[in-house]
Amino acid sequence: MKVVFERPKTLLEKPFTYCPGCHHGLAQRLIAEVIDELGIADRTIGVGPIGCSVYIYEFIDVDFVVGAHGRAPAIATGIKRALPDRVVFSYQGDGDIAAIGTAEIIHVANRGELITAFFVNNAVFGMTGGQMAPTTLVGQKTKTTPLGRKPEVHGFPFRLGECLSVAEGSAYIARVALTRPQFIRQAKECIRRAFLTQIEKKGFSLVEILSPCPTNWGMSPKEAVDWLEQHMIPYFPLGELKVKECLPHEAL
Ligand code: SF4
Repeated sequence: MKVVFERPKTLLEKPFTYCPGCHHGLAQRLIAEVIDELGIADRTIGVGPIGCSVYIYEFIDVDFVVGAHGRAPAIATGIKRALPDRVVFSYQGDGDIAAIGTAEIIHVANRGELITAFFVNNAVFGMTGGQMAPTTLVGQKTKTTPLGRKPEVHGFPFRLGECLSVAEGSAYIARVALTRPQFIRQAKECIRRAFLTQIEKKGFSLVEILSPCPTNWGMSPKEAVDWLEQHMIPYFPLGELKVKECLPHEAL
């Protein structure tokens, strides 16, 4: 019988521990599929964050380090510089990468470090109970903005992907969602291109993955998917934000 669907070898055989309807599991499965298809599992090192997604090391079967809050890109930089033949990636939520870790990610991108970052944006701080994040939408209610985010008080939602696109050292920046089969196929292709950008030494790469947090949004998984499509995608448009066909990094 022809096998048409199976677990990626790099995805460990254990159930995900994320909440029902959370897309961390989908995102991590896609990363594992791409690692398999590129044949890089034995030379890939991941750096986990603080937040719900810290448990990525429980599910993807490559070497892992966990960084202090927001510091994953700096740690990934150190690993890559010490071991330049490895494929190094960070996996971070919006609280980790767009709040406390903003400085690290901006300078890693600007220096053109040869690492790949996966940025899971669910518009709230998930693990600590749903407080406002830099990515929380205008009007969106959270634990710390019970009347909804007001720009005059809380500022505007931060588009990190666009910000990193203007950094000279960034070579590939994309934003994806996982709410529909065609989006999932596009996301996998963007993850593959991001890893290839690193392997081909073109510069820094990042894939932002819009993701629901039904638990802290107070919605069912279906309502959360609909809300993401209706509210998040218009503000955080999907697509490749930057594709830089530059000289190999070593030749610069
Ligand atoms: S709290 Fe939100 S982000 Fe964290 S696992 Fe649950 S649904 Fe996912």
